[in-house]
Amino acid sequence: MPGGHAQTLRPFMWRAERLYPDTEIVSRTHEGRTRHTYAEYADRTARLANALDAHGIERDDRVATFCWNHTRHFETYFGVPNTGAQLHTINPLLPDEHIRYIVDDADDEIVFVDPSLAEKIAGAAEGAAEFEGVDFVAMGSSEIDALDAPAYEEFIADRSTEYDWPDLDGDQPAGLCYTSGTTGKPKGVEYTQSMLWSHTMASQTPQGIPMEDSDVVMPVVPMFHVNAWGMPFTATAAGAKHVYPGPSPDPADLAALIEEEGVTVSAGVPTVWLGLREYVEGGNEVDLSTLDTVIIGGAAAPRALIEWYDERDVEVLHAWGMTELSPIGTVSHLKHDLRETDYETQVKKRSKQGLVAPGLEFEVIDEDGEEVPWNGDDFGELRIRGPWVTKEYFKRPEANEAEFVDGWLKTGDVVTVDEDGYIQLVDRTKDVIKSGGEWISSVELENAIIAYDGVSEAAVVGVSHERWQERPVAFVVVTDGVDREELVERIETGLREEYPEWWVPDAVEFIDEVPKTATGKFSKKDLREQHGDQSLVEGAVPEADAPEEE
Ligand code: ADP
Repeated sequence: MPGGHAQTLRPFMWRAERLYPDTEIVSRTHEGRTRHTYAEYADRTARLANALDAHGIERDDRVATFCWNHTRHFETYFGVPNTGAQLHTINPLLPDEHIRYIVDDADDEIVFVDPSLAEKIAGAAEGAAEFEGVDFVAMGSSEIDALDAPAYEEFIADRSTEYDWPDLDGDQPAGLCYTSGTTGKPKGVEYTQSMLWSHTMASQTPQGIPMEDSDVVMPVVPMFHVNAWGMPFTATAAGAKHVYPGPSPDPADLAALIEEEGVTVSAGVPTVWLGLREYVEGGNEVDLSTLDTVIIGGAAAPRALIEWYDERDVEVLHAWGMTELSPIGTVSHLKHDLRETDYETQVKKRSKQGLVAPGLEFEVIDEDGEEVPWNGDDFGELRIRGPWVTKEYFKRPEANEAEFVDGWLKTGDVVTVDEDGYIQLVDRTKDVIKSGGEWISSVELENAIIAYDGVSEAAVVGVSHERWQERPVAFVVVTDGVDREELVERIETGLREEYPEWWVPDAVEFIDEVPKTATGKFSKKDLREQHGDQSLVEGAVPEADAPEEE
């Protein structure tokens, strides 16, 4: 659709620049905080676009970033796609071989690199044919010799602050993000202009993750992970103030930003919010009074965490999403009639992954190919479709065949839906434990175990068993000074009260850390590999696995 009628990102920036020229974009750096206004942001973004043109970047070319969350990274968020080029945000936590694979697969022309990540990418690029012809720019005021990378500030210096942003089509590729590929090669998900536009607009509805011009928005979720859940776009659409936490922020850094910048909305995976809770519980006083909403997603938000923030008058919005969904799929808002119910009912609902975002449709299909009833009990695989759900994987026709059916994305998440329409994730299709033909939810057991005092992480996997085919084993990370024997006793007794006997794990094993994927999720594949096929024999936990041995 020519003439600026298409659904594109350009109007969001255009509006923020004109309506909120003085609103700030703040960024934490190791040298202190930087501050820019939307007016300055628009100038710098135009200079970036001109510099990209001068570098020979054309429409459809891919421009990559290898960066933490900061203002310069945010400049690429509009500065790259608004020219018609495509922004590929690379996850720097990926193993080198995956980095090489995706730079080659995406055919990146240029990579913007944070100084603190230079060594990492130089290691991946060294001698690699995949990096041939790829240029680098150093995200700062100094160049990086090892990468032959000029400083970003040099790269955009002397460029015009005017740019004739083109009219783009809604189908124009705007973004690219790879899923971490817990199995096989990473898969690219392309975001078109209209996908990002519709995701932003849906986020802005009351049942999304809405923001106002008075908000101060701090995305802790990395900007290399599904556009920081779209927050930089949503915050700009709202004309809100942005706060970027910079490289590897710890709880003290986040606390300082919240207090000193007056953060009202923030978002991140549960670990971030557990970290802040531990920091406060450890005796550090943090003023959370400005903080209204914390969006928690990427992994299940433990109920105890929701309650802890409730007690401090901070509302947790539990959200579920995927790279393939740009990423928001559900948000656990309370329906209006539930707001009249007691706290217990409410918190149970809010602990679920939530209500489907307006604009999407879903169905839940069981093993027999039937749609499951909405009774909160029956489960099946969640399928989803809508304007911001990808319809295919980038250059991967064979993955398309396996993961899409009749226009639906097969999410690989096993869920129930209750009478009110709240979706609850009970497992991943690949992690389901089948014991004696009966299904056990590893996720539910994990959520139960994590609630015990002294447990900081818990992962439950199925190990093979002569008689029952599979039995659950819990892998637990404990906090310092915990009496392990007593803890196992407590967990086993507690689980027996709550669940059928055969759900109780055959063993509780202590480990130092649950292995994680590059996006910080439990990698049960690695856990199974590291701890071997334990082949539990009937009725007994092998001695080597008995908790007392630990
Ligand atoms: P990756 O696949 O690269 O690890 P994604 O962000 O695409 O990263 O992962 C999406 C998956 O993360 C979902 O399919 C789901 O299994 C899990 N997930 C996301 N949000 C939640 C949540 N709120 N609760 C439980 N699991 C979640």
